[in-house]
Formats: sequence, structure tokens, C-alpha cells
Amino acid sequence: MTAPLRLFNSLTRELETFHPVHPGEARVYSCGPTVYNYPHIGNMRAYVFADVLGRTLSWKGYRLTHVINITDVGHLTDDADAGEDKLEKAAAAQHQSIWDIARHYTEAYWADIRALNIRQPAEWSVATDYIEEMIEFAKTIARKHCYELDSGLYFDVSTVDDYGKLARANTDEGEGRIEAVEGKRHPADFAIWRKTPPGETRQMEWDSPWGKGAPGWHLECSVMSGRLLEFPFDIHTGGIDHREIHHPNEIAQNQAFCHTNGLGDPANSGARIWMHNNFLVERSGKMSKSAGEFLRLQLLIDKGYHPLAYRMMCLQAHYRSELEFSWDGLGAALTRLKRLMMAVAALQAQVESPVPEPKTGWTRLYVHDEFDAAFQPYLARFDEAVSDDLNTAVALTVLDDLLAVKTIDPREKLVAIASMDAVLGLKLTALLRSDLRLRPKDAAVSEAEIEDALTRRKAARAEKDFATSDAIRDELAAKGVEVMDGDPLGWEWKL
Ligand code: AMP
Ligand code: ZN
Repeated sequence: MTAPLRLFNSLTRELETFHPVHPGEARVYSCGPTVYNYPHIGNMRAYVFADVLGRTLSWKGYRLTHVINITDVGHLTDDADAGEDKLEKAAAAQHQSIWDIARHYTEAYWADIRALNIRQPAEWSVATDYIEEMIEFAKTIARKHCYELDSGLYFDVSTVDDYGKLARANTDEGEGRIEAVEGKRHPADFAIWRKTPPGETRQMEWDSPWGKGAPGWHLECSVMSGRLLEFPFDIHTGGIDHREIHHPNEIAQNQAFCHTNGLGDPANSGARIWMHNNFLVERSGKMSKSAGEFLRLQLLIDKGYHPLAYRMMCLQAHYRSELEFSWDGLGAALTRLKRLMMAVAALQAQVESPVPEPKTGWTRLYVHDEFDAAFQPYLARFDEAVSDDLNTAVALTVLDDLLAVKTIDPREKLVAIASMDAVLGLKLTALLRSDLRLRPKDAAVSEAEIEDALTRRKAARAEKDFATSDAIRDELAAKGVEVMDGDPLGWEWKL
């Protein structure tokens, strides 16, 4: 009775019906952050998307195994083979060890994950924990697919069929920009092991059959995804930039490792479906980590926007569409979240007994005879929307419709909302007004002072002392507090 789950596969450029490799299970790998700096909110869009995918799979009843990696070695300043290791560079600039840099930024990333209510994956796989496995993997494919240069061990892309199919299918230019490395047989060949140049020592280096050195970034993801999820697994995710170099190279390695031929069967790539989120863009360049103040989640919070407003902003757009960031857009998303939160609070006020937690696996809730059938058409429409390549924008309008309908009992509505929120992840039944009213970091006034002033103003108005009431209002306005008389949301004030 549930809608078939259809997902867009970048490798075939088609919407495909999801059929799990292992019945009842879903195994998903998401390329994780390179922990050399704070993530910007664009990076976090990639994980909101992966989270919605994972939640949708759980909601539809699949047993989910999600792996996200932490890249703490090997990612160069250029996605191909040029430049320095991002972590080595950050460590030198900040006069810290790479391990300290990695720990600090991993924790910062996890803080953003929690703030955005992104579920914990089954495993955060850390690249430096898998060096032995990477060397084993490289040894397995080296003889047939690789050649050695002074600078490292390189993968010969002509040894696999259909190299670069993913890039060619999705970009006008074909493969991404690739820097020349002396001695490479083909421009697209890439390092799977980078040797430490003679006379140098790196902070992170390991012995290998090809000398002391460090693994290539692409190798890491092939090794961790294959070890933890087994080839072929169900779904591999990342941002659209990965369609050009990183994922074509992972696919080539996977083909070499699994001895699979061309990509006529997508599963030969190591994963059945490759999914990519489009970018969050910002016209003035604030997303660049090299710019002074860049768009971190903490900056939004400091300005008084609840982090879930950013999650809402992501959900309002389709993950395959470019999303333009603006403060107005974020403000509108926050207002929408407040409206939902207030509507849910109003329902909760009408209900005495606690509403049961949503069950995992929507199908079970759908047939649950404890409940009235009235909300089921809404859940069915919601299911159709998210099953249509994760169309959360439409799913949100179904939630709006459910809230607006008068004929469904509040308790039943709350059950259905909790079920929908298992996918949306907006904490709709738990958020309080006080949570959403974040104080901007530079605000000159505390919530207690505001509440106190408003109590005095209420008393003045009760006595028809409008002069005092207006004076209090002006006093608050001077401190940046807007008093919202008659606000349909009942929001009372905002900073
Ligand atoms: P990185 O830490 O650079 O490896 O990136 C982490 C994730 O963020 C990858 O999946 C990227 O594809 C993705 N990403 C990078 N920039 C953006 C952006 N502006 N919007 C959405 N996703 C992005
Ligand atoms: Zn990756």
C-alpha cells in the first residue's frame, strides 16, 4: 500500500525504484567532511540531505546502516593530485598537531550535526583508523591497475571500462579540472598512495610497499564503504562537486577491487545508486572558508536564528535544486517553523493523555487500528511526496494541510504529525517557544528583563495607563525588542 520509493541515480540519470541489495535493509555511505576547518552551512546541506534520505528509508521500514566518514588525511587543496594536504596545511598555519586540528574540527562538525537534528550514523569511520586496510586494498589492485612514479602509486584509469561515466553524464565539461603530474600516463590518473618526498617528514605518514607516505583521498572512501557496507551496497551520497573527480575515482577503484566490468549495470560501481545534493550558494562569497566571517551554523545562531530554521530552509527546496542563501529566506523559514510549532502547541494544549511515540516503519502506523483512519489519507500523500525522490517541499505542504483540517481529532493529528516529523526531523512535538526565541549574541537585553517589562506594561494597560505602556514599549524598542501586539502567531515579542 505504500508508494514505491523512487530515487534519482546520478550514474544513470534516471529515477529508479529502490530495491535493496539485502531484503529489508538499506546500506548508505555518505562522504564526510574534511576536518581542517569549520564546516560551512553548504557542507551541512549535504548531511541534512543524507539524513532525510536515511530517515525516509527508516520510515518506510528498512533497517538502515548509515556510514559517514571523517577525512583526517589525504584530501589535497585541489580535488585532484595537486597542492598540499588540507590538514597538514591547517596544522602548519595554526601551529598545532594534525591530530589536534582533526579533533577540534570533528567536534565542531558533530555539534552542527546535533544542532540540525541529524541522526547519528551507525558508524563515523575515521580515515586514519583504516590505513592498514587501505594498504591491503591498494596491494590488491596495484598489479593490474596501478603504476609507480617517484611521487606515489597511481591508478591507471584506462584499465577499467567506462571511466568517468558519472562525470560525463552530469557535467558539460566531462571530468573536472585536473592538474598535471609529471609522468602520469593519462591526465585523469590519480594517486592512491602519495610518497613523502625524500628528505621531508610529514606529520602523518605510514610505511607501505611504495615507501613512507599517505593514502589518497579517493582510496579512503572506497576502502571504508567496502569494508563497512560490502560491495555492492545500496546508496552512496555526496555533493554535486563529487560527481566530477572524487566519485568517478572511487568507482574506478571499486571496479578494480571487485573485478567488475563496465558500468552498464550500476551495481558494478560498488553502489547501486549514487545520489548528489546540489549546492547552497551565496552570491557575496561568504561561503568561502578563506573569507574572514564565513557562513557557519554558529553565525546563524549568534544572529538569533534557531539552527532548525536552516534545516527548514533546506527542506523547503528539493535537494537536487540549487538553493540560494539569504537572511530573508532564513527568516521566512524561521517564521514557518514558529507557525508549525505554535500550531502543534495549540493541539497539545487540547490533549490530556500523552501521545504515543511514532513507530519506526510508517506502514505499521498506517494499519494501526488504535487510530481513526481520518489522518491516513494525509500520511499517504506525505508518503507519496517523500517517496518521489525525497520531495520534502511537497511533504511540508501536506503537513500544512493536515494542520488546517478541522475534522480530525487533535490527538490523532498529533500522532500523524509525530510520524511525519520522523522524516522531517524538525522536532515539531518537542520545540518550545522559548527554544525558537534565540537571543542574538550582541543583544543588550535578557529574556527576563523583557518578560518583566512586558508584565509591567500589561498592568499599565489594565489600568488604561497608555502613557506608561507606550513608554515601556519605546524603552524596549531602543534595546532592539519589538513588541508584537495582536500577532496572529501569539509570538508577543522578538529581538
Ligand atoms: P568537504 O568537507 O569539502 O569534503 O565537503 C563536505 C560535503 O559538503 C561534500 O559532500 C561536498 O560535496 C558538500 N558541499 C561542499 N560545498 C557545498 C555547498 N555549497 N552546498 C552543498 N554541499 C556542499
Ligand atoms: Zn568520499
